[in-house]
Amino acid sequence: MKNSEGSLIRPHPLPDSASCPVVTPLSPSVVYASETPDALDDQYEGRVHGYTYSREGHPNADVVAKRLDAMEGAQGGVVTGSGMGAVTAALLGLLHSGDHVIGGNQLYGRSLRMMKEDLPRLGIATSLADPGDVDDVRAQIRPETRMVLVEVVSNPTLRVADLDGLAALCRDRGILLAVDNTFTTPRAIRPFDHGADIVLHSITKLLAGHSDVMLGYAVARDPALTEKMRVFSVTTGMTPSPFDCWLAERGMLSFDLRFDRSQSTAVALADHLAGLTGVKRVIYPTRADHPDRELATRLLGGQGCNMVSFELDGGRAAANAFTRAAQGLSFAPTLGDVGTTLSHPASSSHRAMTADERAARGMSEGLFRVSVGLEDPSTLKAVFSEAVEAASRAE
Ligand SMILES: *Cc1c(COP(=O)(O)O)cnc(C)c1O
Repeated sequence: MKNSEGSLIRPHPLPDSASCPVVTPLSPSVVYASETPDALDDQYEGRVHGYTYSREGHPNADVVAKRLDAMEGAQGGVVTGSGMGAVTAALLGLLHSGDHVIGGNQLYGRSLRMMKEDLPRLGIATSLADPGDVDDVRAQIRPETRMVLVEVVSNPTLRVADLDGLAALCRDRGILLAVDNTFTTPRAIRPFDHGADIVLHSITKLLAGHSDVMLGYAVARDPALTEKMRVFSVTTGMTPSPFDCWLAERGMLSFDLRFDRSQSTAVALADHLAGLTGVKRVIYPTRADHPDRELATRLLGGQGCNMVSFELDGGRAAANAFTRAAQGLSFAPTLGDVGTTLSHPASSSHRAMTADERAARGMSEGLFRVSVGLEDPSTLKAVFSEAVEAASRAE
């Protein structure tokens, strides 16, 4: 029996058009049809470019990768289904059993977990060190050390890694320096300009910027290493969804404006918070009282980030009163959204640590991290003033 169109199911009916769409088309197709076996040979042997099966790559992922490549001064980067996918592609795609890797001691929670649990289980030894202290990192180096993984600005205490110092050390010892540039973004720093070998991103955060898509990105300066990460990510199924890539691209179109705006509001909010009774301490990398101010200024060239951390006078009761009063600011464990979000490390990102371990890293019950969004700065200041006042009244 013929189907009601009277044709085969998929006749490839793309309408002709002499003009092209302004918006990148969404290509959800899992498979791509070739004309002949010879044409497929040409594709597989690299004489022509073409897609085959979307786990191996698809146009929407390539569009996002190209944009990030341009931002980071890189080539051929790999887009993964999440930021952790990118971290995993670098660690498991490049390291071997018997290798040793040094991680920054204030890495993203899941990256730390990978260091502590998963890599050792697979025979890859790990150590943690302070990425702001090159001597501390040097002291952890072993003959089998293959990689150092750091973030430029740490969460939530916004300490700054000595990237130039680490790059010199790693170059000298033949160790790969991998930099997770999620917080700082290429708008503030391009790690390849400072000697990094690998750059990683969670696109989920500021780059996509609307908390509606999870994606990551991994690229190495050496194309052979990027290729290893690509093959690993394809084999392990990290390929992103075309729709997520499409959404991310849309977010990235306004990234520069969003970054500049949220960053300048973050500076203003930090100053505002520092003047409020009930705030014990404000942390922002370019503030005069920040321990890494000089390093931050040198590395970020006057830029900062959209994150401000601050400590309330008072403990959990004050923290509860603060979030209750800060209506309209999402108390939610993410960052980089168009709206301002609050995180409370003691009850979320750093809850696995003991209170003593947190105290040693400067994280009390009163500590909040603010991811500054695109609100009007004066509205934001008013909301924070009110919430800090409510916290001061809490018992
Ligand atoms: C969020 C984050 C990640 C992980 O990214 P996902 O997209 O959530 O998997 C890695 N590194 C940093 C610094 C992050 O903030």
